[in-house]
Parts: sequence; structure tokens; C-alpha cells
Amino acid sequence: MRKIVIAGNWKMHKTQGEALTFLQGFLGQLSETPQDREVVLCVPFTALSALSKNLHGSRVMLGAQNIHWEDSGAYTGEVSGSMLEEFGIRYVVVGHSERRQLFGETDQTVNKRLMAAQRHALTPILCVGETKEQRDRGEAEDIISKQLMQALVNIDQSNLVIAYEPIWAIGTGDTCETTEANRIIGVIRQQLDNQSVSIQYGGSVKPGNIDEIMAQSDIDGVLVGGASLEPDSFSRIANFVQ
Ligand code: PEP
Repeated sequence: MRKIVIAGNWKMHKTQGEALTFLQGFLGQLSETPQDREVVLCVPFTALSALSKNLHGSRVMLGAQNIHWEDSGAYTGEVSGSMLEEFGIRYVVVGHSERRQLFGETDQTVNKRLMAAQRHALTPILCVGETKEQRDRGEAEDIISKQLMQALVNIDQSNLVIAYEPIWAIGTGDTCETTEANRIIGVIRQQLDNQSVSIQYGGSVKPGNIDEIMAQSDIDGVLVGGASLEPDSFSRIANFVQ
């Protein structure tokens, strides 16, 4: 059974205080959210402690935005699964295009981070997607297929979420056509051994397009950047109308 996962990726936004203010506005707007939807906030490491205390007993799951493959060691600036476990988090974003493009993540390091997440019983949200140039050259499917093939070596597909995030749609306001996102997600699913992996769409998801996105047959949820920063917009996304 494919789970619906609505996840916010706050990126490098919000201090602890701002995160708690967000919660005050957000939690009250989830009283009608159907129980079969997983609502997740993937927040900066510095906000995990405050949020884990304040989300206790709520239906919102906490997530991180990266994880190192070792449990400890000389890796300045990195955070390990043992450290994340302490906050009771359930999800971790791995291989986001900003990590790949700005911080040199490769399919090999993504694979190692996925393994570490699963070793610590976290569900990784593996991000894949093509650039505008790759799409224009007709390479989108090949690129995504290669990303998946390399990232998923020795990965347990029973504890995995995949996010299809066309890079040209991230933070640009330029959403991928919903039918095209649905088609690519179908292609991704064909490459998986486990057909119940949830596959999200990500890229300029907003209150104005969420209902249409979630009406697509193969899209099991969304990974949301900008529109997850405001309680009203992210709660509208979590409360999408079927
Ligand atoms: C993202 O950060 O994964 C993302 C999809 O961002 P945005 O929703 O702002 O396009």
C-alpha cells in the first residue's frame, strides 16, 4: 500500500524561535487532515531539538535534511545517524539537488547516506531529477534512471520514499506539468522492485496546484520547499482536496 507523504523541506530557513512560531500556527490547522496522510517537517539540524519536544504527541513527523554515512569521525560539519536518532526523527532527505549541485554530492555518496539512514531506522527521502538542459536534450529519463540505479544499490526498498524533483522546477515557480510529473513517476516506479514505495513530486508545489498534483494516479505526495515555510500555505497543502 502506497502511503501519502506530504513533506516540507525548510532548507536553511528558521531559527528555533521561528520554528516554534510556525508550529503554533500550523498544528491547529491539521485537525481535519485525514489520518492516512503522513505530514513531515524536514528542518535544519538546529531546530530539531525544539521541534522534537514540541511535536511530541502530535501527528507531525520530524525529518532532517541530510545524514552522514559514518556514525562518528573526522567529518567537520557533518551530522550522523546516531546524532539524529536522539531527536526521534523519522525521515531524512538524501540527495537533494541543492546538495548535489552546490556541495558535490554524487550518486555514490547518496547511496552511502541512504544506507546510513536505513541502518538507523530512518526513512530516507531520495531526491532525483534532471536539469533543464538535460530535459531539453531529451535525457530526463536516462538521467533519473542512472541516479536511481546507483543510489539504490543494496538499499531496502521497504523503507524508502522517492521524490521526483525536476531541478528546473525547484524554487522557480515553474511547476512541471502534472501529467508529465505523473508519467515520469510511473517510469521511476517501473524501475523499482517494490511497487509500494511512495513517490513524491517536488518543484514549486503551492496551495494553488496541490489538488491537481495529488489527483494524478502515480503521485503519492509532495516535497515542498518555499510553500512549507508558512503555516497557512503548508496546511492547505497537507489538507489537499481529493
Ligand atoms: C525543494 O526544496 O525540494 C523544493 C521542491 O522547493 P520548492 O517547493 O520551493 O520548489
